[in-house]
Amino acid sequence: MKKVGFIGLGNMGFFMSRNLSQANHLINGYDVNEDVFAKLKKYNIIQKTCINEINDDNEIIITMLPNGTVVEKVWNSLLKNLKSNTLLVDCSTIDVETTKRLHNMAKSKNLLSLDAPVSGGTIGADNGSLTFMVGGTEEAYNKMLPLFEIMGNKSILCGKAGSGQATKMCNNLLLAITMSGLGEAIKLANSQSLDMNKFYNVLSTSTGSCWALNNYSPIKGIGPSSPADNDFKPGFSSQLMLKDLSLALSAAAHSNLDLEIGKKVLKNYKSLVDNKKGDLDFSSIVNYDNS
Ligand code: NAD
Repeated sequence: MKKVGFIGLGNMGFFMSRNLSQANHLINGYDVNEDVFAKLKKYNIIQKTCINEINDDNEIIITMLPNGTVVEKVWNSLLKNLKSNTLLVDCSTIDVETTKRLHNMAKSKNLLSLDAPVSGGTIGADNGSLTFMVGGTEEAYNKMLPLFEIMGNKSILCGKAGSGQATKMCNNLLLAITMSGLGEAIKLANSQSLDMNKFYNVLSTSTGSCWALNNYSPIKGIGPSSPADNDFKPGFSSQLMLKDLSLALSAAAHSNLDLEIGKKVLKNYKSLVDNKKGDLDFSSIVNYDNS
């Protein structure tokens, strides 16, 4: 049994911390929104009421927070309370530059650190089948591996500090593009009065098949259960997808890359969020008309 600090117990952190607790690890949890503990207490997650209570009692501390500004603030507070060799693991999706700063901060205090953003969404978090894309040292990765294996079914050490986040932003750029492309195929199918069950049966096993259709079908009542069956309640919100696309496009701009399709897809998500639909699942883009 390991003592683990878990900060950020929202849509993703809730399931991830629950799975660790159910595998007999002792979880000290902290979230600014105390309401999250109402559902977590029955899974033996111990509620800490301030960040200073997440201290060197914990061998490993995981953060699962909304963005880089919040993660940096939380890590800054944490670092004061930790003894050397404590392992800090950030599973949030944030920018590569902030991530590198976090690793440097940890190194200066003789702490181990990993960036380990995830893929698989709330469904993967719930059933313990996340993929972790990891950046950092082998020593830190090997220490975290038993916990990755509980929360996910795949973890890959992608390279040095920041490589996990860099891999994640490539993945989400592609996911936003495939979901948007799928939206166009669905609009075309509807315009041709196609039977959508048959459309799904064919495309999910043909060359057009993709994770967005096969695992997260945005067509209500068709394919596996998904946010489309629940009025597009997230899941993974459009607001968060806009954040991820912004990270990808800004990294591309820094490398003098012009990602034409990505820029168009980002514009559509921005319009959706500006129209107060950012709380809907990112797959709701298939029904959005940005004309
Ligand atoms: P969420 O908003 O549901 O959860 C974030 C939690 O952090 C909230 O409970 C919030 O109260 C808490 N929080 C905010 N500021 C805090 C602070 N200063 N101290 C302590 N707690 C604080 O978000 P989520 O959907 O769980 O996503 C978390 C991260 O995982 C994000 O970076 C997101 O991009 C990434 N992610 C999400 C999904 C998904 O499907 N939801 C998939 C992959 C990656």
